[in-house]
Amino acid sequence: MNGIEKLICGWHLTEDDFMEILSEKDNPQTAVFLAKKAVQARKTFYGTKVFIRGLIEFTNYCKNNCYYCGIRCGNKNAVRYRLTKEEILSCCQEGYRLGFRTFVLQGGEDPFYTDERMEDIIRGIKAKYPDCALTLSLGERSYESYRLFRQAGADRYLLRHETADDGHYRQLHPENMSLGRRKQCLYDLKELGYQVGAGMMVGSPGQTKKTLAQDLAFLQELQPQMVGIGPFIPHHDTPFAHQMAGSVDLTLYLLSVVRLLLPRVLLPATTALGTLDPIGREKGLAAGANVVMPNLSPAKNRENYALYDNKLCTGEESAQCRDDIERRIALAGYEMVTERGDYFSGQQAVAVPAQESLTD
Ligand code: SAH
Repeated sequence: MNGIEKLICGWHLTEDDFMEILSEKDNPQTAVFLAKKAVQARKTFYGTKVFIRGLIEFTNYCKNNCYYCGIRCGNKNAVRYRLTKEEILSCCQEGYRLGFRTFVLQGGEDPFYTDERMEDIIRGIKAKYPDCALTLSLGERSYESYRLFRQAGADRYLLRHETADDGHYRQLHPENMSLGRRKQCLYDLKELGYQVGAGMMVGSPGQTKKTLAQDLAFLQELQPQMVGIGPFIPHHDTPFAHQMAGSVDLTLYLLSVVRLLLPRVLLPATTALGTLDPIGREKGLAAGANVVMPNLSPAKNRENYALYDNKLCTGEESAQCRDDIERRIALAGYEMVTERGDYFSGQQAVAVPAQESLTD
């Protein structure tokens, strides 16, 4: 069996298999075939539902200096802000009114938010919105911090591994950061019972077919419940200002591959994809994605959470973003739902006609 056949049948794949799958990327027939299989797989577990997550970018202070990221500490032009607990809760209030039942707190690695402050914020949100899921995305912390946050009520954690190749990791990050440490965080989070999200940018400088094959092999090993995959987009105030953006087509191809590799995965059609292509997120849904993450951050802070240039939705109100997304999802033939949208861990898949089985 070749790599593509093994992927479709749910076999364990080697790095060579992934290399073979990636080599097929420019064969349009393969891309169409994998997207069709990916959409079938996602329908098996989630039907036509698309889950929405309200993204609250609560701080753009960061102690790290990742070469690709616009809010790196070395960017002296970034206008920094932090949200208070009250501001965060008011984003949640607006989000709840708009139908969001998952809130994602994302930020730079900001030491101002000590364990005590984070615990207080997490407990505040969970006390007011017990029916909502809370996702954190605040980078690397100790096992003990992750344990405290989990105990305080956090349900999920997003921490992209960025690249699973040591040499490539070095090309993207300064020396004080390490892939080993990042992977350890992901394993810690899993052990603590979080629904965990890993992932990578597509087309980051230095990325090759080989490093992408390593990324896919790592995802297969980790078995995350969520995977964030979006194209790299340069930011003008970073060392990568003049690098090329990642490819939309390769991103879509990888979304299909990841859907087939981890059929129940919660897979966002990312804002970065929508930034590079006006209908990028719709294309993401057609490639196997089933999540979108509209922005709930206060309008006055939006433009300052600039990870990359020309980010979508920076000038809009939360309600506008949400309505726009709902319309787009419906036009793409899917249904935006307002449930928590947890990882599918039940036995019973949504019924699909026999001829749509995974192996036909
Ligand atoms: N500090 C948190 C959140 C980081 S921002 C953490 O370490 O996880 C969330 C994601 O945005 C990053 O993981 C990275 O993959 C992505 N990102 C950062 N800069 C980007 C860029 N220039 N283009 C595309 N994606 C970028």
